[in-house]
Amino acid sequence: MLIVQKYGGTSVGDIDRIRNVARRCLVAKKAGHDVVVVVSAMSGETNRLLKLTTDISKRPSEREQDVVVSTGEQVTVGLLALAIQEQQGKARSFLGHQVRILTDSAFANARIKSIDDTRLRESLVEGEIAVVAGFQGIDERGNITTLGRGGSDTTAVALAAALKADACEIYTDVDGVYTTDPRICDKARKLDRISYEEMLEMASLGSKVLQIRSVEFAMKYKVPLWVKSSFTDDPGTLVTEEDAKMEEVVVSGIAVTRDESRFVVRNVPDKPGVAATVFGKLAQQGIVVDVIVQTPAHEDGRTDMAFTVGRLDKDKTDELVRKVAGDLGAGKVEHEEDIAKVSIVGVGMRNHAGVASKMFEVLAKENINIRVISTSEIKVSCLIDEKYAELAVRALHKAFGLDKA
Ligand code: ADP
Ligand code: ASP
Ligand code: MG
Repeated sequence: MLIVQKYGGTSVGDIDRIRNVARRCLVAKKAGHDVVVVVSAMSGETNRLLKLTTDISKRPSEREQDVVVSTGEQVTVGLLALAIQEQQGKARSFLGHQVRILTDSAFANARIKSIDDTRLRESLVEGEIAVVAGFQGIDERGNITTLGRGGSDTTAVALAAALKADACEIYTDVDGVYTTDPRICDKARKLDRISYEEMLEMASLGSKVLQIRSVEFAMKYKVPLWVKSSFTDDPGTLVTEEDAKMEEVVVSGIAVTRDESRFVVRNVPDKPGVAATVFGKLAQQGIVVDVIVQTPAHEDGRTDMAFTVGRLDKDKTDELVRKVAGDLGAGKVEHEEDIAKVSIVGVGMRNHAGVASKMFEVLAKENINIRVISTSEIKVSCLIDEKYAELAVRALHKAFGLDKA
């Protein structure tokens, strides 16, 4: 088999752990498999590097920022290749540009366009373990790019798709995908399997165990994707295609995120093209808008528009929205940070009624006010005050029967 393994920051957090990863790669190699291994930077390193750039410049050029933050992974690929060699294995490290992981030019958030597998294949033919830096690529003009936080997951799945690997194994500090973040709810249970679609929603809604784009790639190219612990030999969770059994479960998981900022633009003129203007401007700057709510027009023909964006984009958004609101002759712009989005996810929701109303009841019973609601076929999300986030997760986890196997 050809296996792509990926080890996250905690798994390569110090020298002993890197040795442990080397041992694990060699176990797979000795079992007769071809092994490509993707690694993240040592835990905390990407944040440290990011801070260096913002210490030197308030608004660092994103191109130069990527040059700096991509170096965390350069250190770990070299160290892991050395650790494998120390254990009598053959290994060669590769940076994104050496493989040629070609991306677009959206610095800090680049998308993979293509992967050249020639050098990796050569390395495998030589009997080496190919050790590839996660999170980084190169654009058409030779600039170094990075794939967004958590992007090593996407490097791994994209490599697995390109190499038509038999499995992609994401090794992390938990032993699989849980019904909710085990750090928030001690009743969280590990799932043996979860569908691509549910995993995609969980990831989009804030479960950071896998980067969203890695799940998109896995779904598109049907990559068998495992989430496992780098510290145990548990089988982990398989992310795979949906089947009838999965549909029997109404709610499979609960996600929560505190990474959003909410904006309200008051007294927007209620006429065609206004929403297109506001959101068009944000889109041009690459700002992803999440929940959008527009209230019906008031008697004076004006309306309020509320939406959320990722907290990282809040300053850019604030500046832009104030300008657009001024141009449109709208009222004041309000902005709040202390919100959380709690979501329930499950493919079983498609054919069950009353799921959303049950969620609202559970929150009401805990006296939690719902600020905004948004739904899709397989999820319901509510924006609430941040201080109630954990309480909401625990109450929903219990009410939807996730506490018990
Ligand atoms: P890595 O550094 O290995 O990429 P991450 O910190 O990115 O690891 O992802 C693993 C973390 O994801 C876990 O420690 C856990 O706190 C968090 N997490 C959030 N939601 C879930 C979930 N539903 N199941 C498992 N882990 C989750
Ligand atoms: N080192 C990068 C980050 O912390 C990528 C990753 O770990 O997946 O976001
Ligand atoms: Mg991660």
